[in-house]
Amino acid sequence: MTTIWENSIFGSGGFVAGRGGVLEVTAPATGATIGTVGIADTVDLDAAVAAAKEAQPAWAALPYTERAAVLAKAAALLQEAPERLTDWLVPESGSGFGKASFETALVTSELAESAGLASQPYGQLLRSMKPRLSVGRYVPVGIVGVISPFNFPAILSTRSVAPALALGNAVILKPDPRTPIAGGLILAEILAEAGLPDGLLHVLPAGAEVGAALVAHPDVPCISFTGSTAAGRKIGEAAAPLLKKVHLELGGNNALLVLPDADLDAAASAGAWGSFLHQGQICMTTGRHLVPRALVGEYTAKLAEIAERITVGDPTDPANALGPIIDSGQLAKVDQIVQATVSAGAELRAGGTYEDLFYRPTVLAEVPRDSPAFSQEIFGPVAPITAYDTIDEAIEIINSSEYGLSVSILTGDPFRAFELADRIVSGAVHINDQTVDDEAVAPFGGAKASGTGGHFGTSVNLSTFCDLQWITVQSDIARYPF
Ligand code: NAD
Repeated sequence: MTTIWENSIFGSGGFVAGRGGVLEVTAPATGATIGTVGIADTVDLDAAVAAAKEAQPAWAALPYTERAAVLAKAAALLQEAPERLTDWLVPESGSGFGKASFETALVTSELAESAGLASQPYGQLLRSMKPRLSVGRYVPVGIVGVISPFNFPAILSTRSVAPALALGNAVILKPDPRTPIAGGLILAEILAEAGLPDGLLHVLPAGAEVGAALVAHPDVPCISFTGSTAAGRKIGEAAAPLLKKVHLELGGNNALLVLPDADLDAAASAGAWGSFLHQGQICMTTGRHLVPRALVGEYTAKLAEIAERITVGDPTDPANALGPIIDSGQLAKVDQIVQATVSAGAELRAGGTYEDLFYRPTVLAEVPRDSPAFSQEIFGPVAPITAYDTIDEAIEIINSSEYGLSVSILTGDPFRAFELADRIVSGAVHINDQTVDDEAVAPFGGAKASGTGGHFGTSVNLSTFCDLQWITVQSDIARYPF
């Protein structure tokens, strides 16, 4: 199929060649080339930043209705033809059809909410000791640099790109080189079709070195990074002396707490979804199942039974619920963690095997707390289960992780769980749901090693992609003793 982005990056003048050459994008399920895109280098980056700097003031000065109209039109285009995104998400990122549809709906909703954001109040009328108008107002930072990962490439790019544009910024997006199409080029195509003026969005498929150059660029005052904690630490270190506004959304090792009064069938179903969806390659994946000792045998048997019957294979066949791991390096890491955890004393109750890049949904029981499957983010379809004796112990186990992204509590007494949430350090706590969730209107962000927290979600986006400016107005020039 010929595409508009063939051999291209996106920037001034639309889809153009990249100076870094051409990248073959492959489907992890088959190894087949599904498209070729351009590769950007640091010269392309400099040109993109210069063009963005030129285009941004006029964009910010437009009536808000015009920015809103572009985003609303983009949402409508995707709503009318979701396959424009899903048809690429499935092969490029190895997404099952359900995950790709969920992600496309999230992208549509993010575009629509960002259209609404453009018309929202953008500041506060402040009290003052003086007879004057005193206002705190959000002004665009100018250029936002967005760096996104492979796993939910479309939404993790859009959740920064769309609100940043809506609020009057220009954006330089560097998607993961494994997913440049769903991670950026389709979004550019749709926004351009929706009327986004030239120069405001640049999509630069490239590796980490161009990401690092974006972080270091003196004309990019704000960076929104989503990816691993290791890369986030490097970006934080690089940006600190430059005094930039940096948002880091990083890894997780999310606990699902089954309370003694939970419905075990529903709990096992939720736990399976939380651990296995998109092969466990989600920052919010359920990484630790905590179950009362008296129920752990029954819960494990139910979860293993679900794992055994999940279909795994090429996700372009809708009969397959799960697809491949993104690449062989990630698959080797998943398997190494599973094998090391079995060696550390855990019991393999399902899975633990693979063919090509297809890893079977895996259930590990009696997982020691200091084993790798319990203490690390796996990023694979693995459900580690551990028994607990008291609620205090369970809370202590949840909080013992270095991460703090999402926690689930399953119970027949939701208000009791609501009280327990007070004792949990986590960006999100979901009572009677599993750990994977996102909505354009909800705050999203992790605590501890999961990031610098709470940066996305309608009104939160104001402080994320704008600077707060104090502005005062009085009728006459104030008189001073000098
Ligand atoms: P990664 O950190 O290796 O790469 C993510 C992006 O950062 C890619 O575009 C990559 O090219 C770029 N990059 C890597 N090193 C860089 C550097 N030093 N400077 C600038 N850019 C750099 O991430 P990954 O392992 O491919 O993705 C999975 C990770 O992302 C997991 O840890 C997952 O939990 C995390 N994640 C977090 C969230 C969240 O919202 N908290 C969402 C999705 C994924």
